[in-house]
Amino acid sequence: MTNETTPIKDHFGRVLKDLRISVIDKCNFRCTYCMPKEIFGEDYVFLSEKELLSFEEIIRLASVFAKLGVEKIRITGGEPLMRRDLEELIAELNAIPGIKDIALTTNAVMLPKKAKKLKEAGLKRVNISLDAIEDEVFKEINGKGVVARPVLKGIEAAKEAGLGIKINMVVKKGMNESQVLPMARYFKGKDIILRFIEFMDVGNHNGWDFKNVISKKDIITMINHEMPIEPAEENYYGEVASRYRYKDGGGEIGVISSVTDSFCGTCTRIRLSADGKLYTCLFASDGFDIRKKMRDNQLSDVELEEELTHLWGRRKDRYSEERSEEKHQNRRKIEMSYIGG
Ligand code: SAM
Ligand code: SF4
Ligand code: SF4
Repeated sequence: MTNETTPIKDHFGRVLKDLRISVIDKCNFRCTYCMPKEIFGEDYVFLSEKELLSFEEIIRLASVFAKLGVEKIRITGGEPLMRRDLEELIAELNAIPGIKDIALTTNAVMLPKKAKKLKEAGLKRVNISLDAIEDEVFKEINGKGVVARPVLKGIEAAKEAGLGIKINMVVKKGMNESQVLPMARYFKGKDIILRFIEFMDVGNHNGWDFKNVISKKDIITMINHEMPIEPAEENYYGEVASRYRYKDGGGEIGVISSVTDSFCGTCTRIRLSADGKLYTCLFASDGFDIRKKMRDNQLSDVELEEELTHLWGRRKDRYSEERSEEKHQNRRKIEMSYIGG
């Protein structure tokens, strides 16, 4: 393969830039809005070792994607730090020509053990999920009775290792809107960006209802009332978070408003599930089984490139703009823990 890249465009002219790789479907949490323990219980069957894409297969796919214009890779899960030897995968991804940025989304509990190794392997940034700062609320949300302290320790470890850090907080009515201000107060002035995420209708098990969405507008109003903020400019094309800075210089926050203010027009992401299916939208029903193609058909790199080019070329996804349309009602969707957000 040469190092030349050929950026590819979908049906609406959106280029492919980001690849999200879910490396495992297991998790050490049971967040109520993602892997509720009533569904993901003791007898839930997770993917076997053989079903998971191997590091070799992931690297091969990522290399072809890099040729097609992908520059950024995000590693996710499940809980990605539960995948053995993850740092080895990161080091190999980091060596692919054209890959400029590798990031990881994690609940951070295993970061104290892993942060340094990951940084050395070439990881640049972590997005750490934390939905509450008060223990009683957080314990309830993560379904495992884990208090905030282990996550805060993970954040410290990431900082010490020199990783860039953003904190992601999903806000859901009745679950943690009480935590919006305490979280903002906690992270203000700490040089860490806190991003609020509207509760989304991903998957089939989280009982999503629009009335449980706390909107971007509500969040901004709440914060601005106590800690005045003003809009900040977009950092780069396709940035999903609307950015706001504290007027007193205390840093910035972001809001990801997939529900009330969608951003499909600039969506440049493709997602690879832990068992090798490609999804061109977070809200898709079906994926494209690239693992099967690779394992059964022994595709050459050129054939693989053609498959991926066609897949992206026929992409017409714009779910967040069409959410309320008839065709999407009662449609099965892929689970968040499987595709990784
Ligand atoms: N386990 C890792 C973590 O929690 O960071 C990575 C995987 S998790 C599926 C990725 C992100 O998706 C997390 O920040 C999580 O809060 C978010 N998420 C899961 N379900 C969601 C939902 N229904 N709406 C909005 N965000 C969701
Ligand atoms: Fe696990 Fe992340 Fe889902 Fe929580 S949000 S259950 S930590 S995968
Ligand atoms: Fe991209 Fe689908 Fe989300 Fe729209 S709904 S921004 S197409 S992932």
